[in-house]
Amino acid sequence: MKIELVTLPYASNALEPVISRQTIEFHHGKHLQTYVNNLNNLIQGTKFENAPLETIVKESEGAVFNNAGQVLNHNLYFTQFSPNGGDEPSGKLAAAINAEWGSLAGFQKEFEAAGVSLFGSGWVWLASDASGKLSITKEANAGNPVTKGLKPLLGFDVWEHSYYLDYQNRRADHLKALWAIVNWKVVESRY
Ligand code: MN
Repeated sequence: MKIELVTLPYASNALEPVISRQTIEFHHGKHLQTYVNNLNNLIQGTKFENAPLETIVKESEGAVFNNAGQVLNHNLYFTQFSPNGGDEPSGKLAAAINAEWGSLAGFQKEFEAAGVSLFGSGWVWLASDASGKLSITKEANAGNPVTKGLKPLLGFDVWEHSYYLDYQNRRADHLKALWAIVNWKVVESRY
């Protein structure tokens, strides 16, 4: 089963000014495409050749893990945004966020702090355990909460390639700006 490049659910300029067309085109069309190509080359003729992406992430290591993790991470990342985002979570996800952090603003503050304090390249995730309890996890490089038995709901990419063209070194400003394009309906559907 060939791993495919995920289709963006919006035009490449639709998330401006939060994420520029140029950043989307490099990030999706170059960086993610390279992870997809590498992964397809690496799994050819191996036990992972026909495995679901999440299984590869859970069971691999080394170069296969790095590329599979980055494909899974970016599939979740690119599909969680919308030019009409920036609303608020509702239903049981909203209740769980309020139970854990007191408010959406309380959660966002802690999530941004986790992303800012992650040293080097990686991801910050909102994740759920099997009981529905939420947590924020910091993952280095290609990490994803699925390797800890958690379900990833929302992920912010803190690799410099995700923001450097638009924000240079200002990672904190970038993370704060992303809330305006989060599609909470998609995040809720993962919960
Ligand atoms: Mn990235």
